[in-house]
Amino acid sequence: MKHIVVVVLALAALGAGQGAPARVSLVVIGASVITENASHQVLTPGAIAINGADIVAIGTPQAISAAYAASETIDARDQVVLPGLINTHTHAPMVMFRGLADDLALMDWLQKYIFPAEAKTVSPEFVRTGTRLAALEMIESGTTTYADMYYFEEEIAKATREAGLRGVLGETIIQFPVPDAKTPAEGLARAERFIQMFKGDPLIVPAVAPHALYTNDEASLLASVELARKYHAPVIMHLAETEDELKGSLEQHRATPVQYLESIGFWGPRTLAAHGVWVNDADIEILRRRGVGIAHNPESNMKLASGAAPIVKYLAAGVRVGLGTDGAASNNDLDMFEAMRQASFLAKLTTRDPTAVPAQTALDMATIGGARALGMDESIGSLEAGKRADLITVSMSAARQTPMYDPVSHLVYVTRGDDVRTTIVNGKVLMKDRQVRTLDRSRVIAEANRLAEKVRAALR
Ligand SMILES: [Zn+2]
Repeated sequence: MKHIVVVVLALAALGAGQGAPARVSLVVIGASVITENASHQVLTPGAIAINGADIVAIGTPQAISAAYAASETIDARDQVVLPGLINTHTHAPMVMFRGLADDLALMDWLQKYIFPAEAKTVSPEFVRTGTRLAALEMIESGTTTYADMYYFEEEIAKATREAGLRGVLGETIIQFPVPDAKTPAEGLARAERFIQMFKGDPLIVPAVAPHALYTNDEASLLASVELARKYHAPVIMHLAETEDELKGSLEQHRATPVQYLESIGFWGPRTLAAHGVWVNDADIEILRRRGVGIAHNPESNMKLASGAAPIVKYLAAGVRVGLGTDGAASNNDLDMFEAMRQASFLAKLTTRDPTAVPAQTALDMATIGGARALGMDESIGSLEAGKRADLITVSMSAARQTPMYDPVSHLVYVTRGDDVRTTIVNGKVLMKDRQVRTLDRSRVIAEANRLAEKVRAALR
């Protein structure tokens, strides 16, 4: 025993002479490390030292192994390492309505299928089971942070925290009776309790989510904002999603949705607006000036034929733009790689300009851009020392990824969520070599299938 102590001390002394390696919890080594920092630096190869929840250093594998001794090392030398993807708009439990009502316009889809289905089926149990399924899908496809708005948001928050994901989660405020509140006042009281419950949580940012302009009156909209300001919480809403919403606002308020909301003092710096499809140049200027984040959902907008958000204009104006999948009932999955690809293609098609939204821009929107839209770019969205360790490793060995000249091109144009190998959030490994550690995969899927039987029976 004494002998071993002497040896350890001797090694320590030797190390000290050359600058002793500092102990860290985790080192990740990749063929390429795509940092998404301000200069879009890519290290080939690269390594990241992580201690606890934080990124400590990024450098060459040699430099990192000389400076740090890690408790766990993930050798992804045949993979690409990048910041975890940020889904800025979804309704996680709606994975339970996946494929239930396709090929409809938004208002038909909402009013004839989704709202009635929700009224009959959405309960705390539904939300828990659905969120676990969504979390499994997100972990398996490389999403590390997501923004959500739904009902029983405290159940979503608990399931998100258990899965180890980061969430900006908004309790919905809506004018008519919904599964967790009969009135907007009840919804606001729920939202306040929810904020108090999760404020300061390392993974959960509680938010207030007035559903939309067309589902709330002015008093509910303003009460939502007031509540958010009281707790410095974000506001999440749907905005200018369809032409009908624009027409309705012009008729009712004699102003576009953006300008009406400006006139009542709704906009603030921590507001995330989903869609923003039907906006004009003056609207875009208001959104820029107010620092509003836009969640662009190209797949949902295409599937519901809502239109195409003017992403090139938003980006040129300096509006903070992130990407989202929207709920799985209108997509029909939560794969952010598809969202990147479709964002790029849709922008090219609508502007008839093949240089619009190049691969690098699409990747920016899914990472650092999403972090800016959420007001969280100080802590996530890029791989930089001092930020939280939210990152993924992606295999590039499939036939469709061969050969690889440019990892950024491949991430946007040929990679799928299934190619993600490892997902790390807040320094914790949620999935390694496609084995999810925080959720029991077969149980989550079996429970979702059992719940789907109840959904089917309720809708009969
Ligand atoms: Zn939505």
